[in-house]
Amino acid sequence: MTQPSFAFEPHATPVEASERAARIVNPGFGRVFTDHMATIRWSEDKGWHDAKITARAPIVMDPAAAVLHYAQEIFEGLKAYTLPDGGVALFRAEQNAARFRRSAKRLAMAELPEDLFVASCRELTLAEREWIPAGEGSALYLRPFMIASETFLGVKPSAEYLYCVIASAVGNYWPGGAKSVSLWVSKEFTRAAPGGTGDAKCGGNYAASLLAQSEAIRQGCDQVVFLDATERRWVEELGGMNIFFVFDDGTMLTPPLTGTILPGITRDSILTLARDQEITVREERYSIEEWQADAASGRLVEAFACGTAAVVTPIGKVSSADFSFQIGDGQPGERTQALLKQLTDIQRGRSNDPHGWMQRI
Ligand code: PMP
Repeated sequence: MTQPSFAFEPHATPVEASERAARIVNPGFGRVFTDHMATIRWSEDKGWHDAKITARAPIVMDPAAAVLHYAQEIFEGLKAYTLPDGGVALFRAEQNAARFRRSAKRLAMAELPEDLFVASCRELTLAEREWIPAGEGSALYLRPFMIASETFLGVKPSAEYLYCVIASAVGNYWPGGAKSVSLWVSKEFTRAAPGGTGDAKCGGNYAASLLAQSEAIRQGCDQVVFLDATERRWVEELGGMNIFFVFDDGTMLTPPLTGTILPGITRDSILTLARDQEITVREERYSIEEWQADAASGRLVEAFACGTAAVVTPIGKVSSADFSFQIGDGQPGERTQALLKQLTDIQRGRSNDPHGWMQRI
């Protein structure tokens, strides 16, 4: 099948330049959207077709559309950055494309070819480059997603899909430098079970995590951390970030990709950067008991979470119904800050990019 190129239908009344400039000064996260969106449709008879960049507008669908009933939906999140010379680059978009395809397979959805995913992100970013905020730590956050759009109330894979990319100007997550967050260990709720959808990026995983996240907030913590669903003792990940531990002998550990956690692209980048520096990083199970004991003995010196939105988030305190402990002095650790700097320097085009992670568009 030949791949469609993107038809461009410019917005008739885009946001005025002065208004746009005002909106992207302090955009926060996920609230300031650009003028356009990319869409591609899929149907059993036509395959992928009708690729276009159009004005960002509500999606009209039948109330019987499959996604509204059975949650056949997947998404991605990646950033486009401005480089020092004014160029624009996407960070490891081909990795998001591959993960999107794996998520589609797991949700029994049509698999978007990876080059079409990357092209949709590139085309939308090119159309919206004026929306990329200039400030340190700012970026254009791209949100590709796909929904089951067939009008049918039977439980089966949809015969039609709508793929869409929207873009949001986002600010620096850590305006005054990274701050430590506190975690609540959820004993009651789990996020993903063996054989489930934990390693796919589908909306349902996030719906299932919200009550646990609300509990974390009610308990005075910033984020929830999930344990495995079988033994309820192995640390898995946060609601939207992977987790790393740093020990006093300089080694690091992160939970292995056994199917119940999301294979984060930031996780993979940190593994690569650490191993480049000959830091030993084990991908091994780590129990909540070990975490508690290692924090108490001082063997554990740092812990951090990582993901596209905040890049690296230091962890200061960990609580649950029956314990509460601090990691180190509760402040962002040296290794955590060094890895945050190394990764953001590559993303900002301030240091060389030995693995070719930045693709200029
Ligand atoms: N785990 C979960 C559950 C997530 O939603 C995310 C964010 N995509 C991550 C980990 C981190 O993944 P990435 O580094 O690719 O953003």
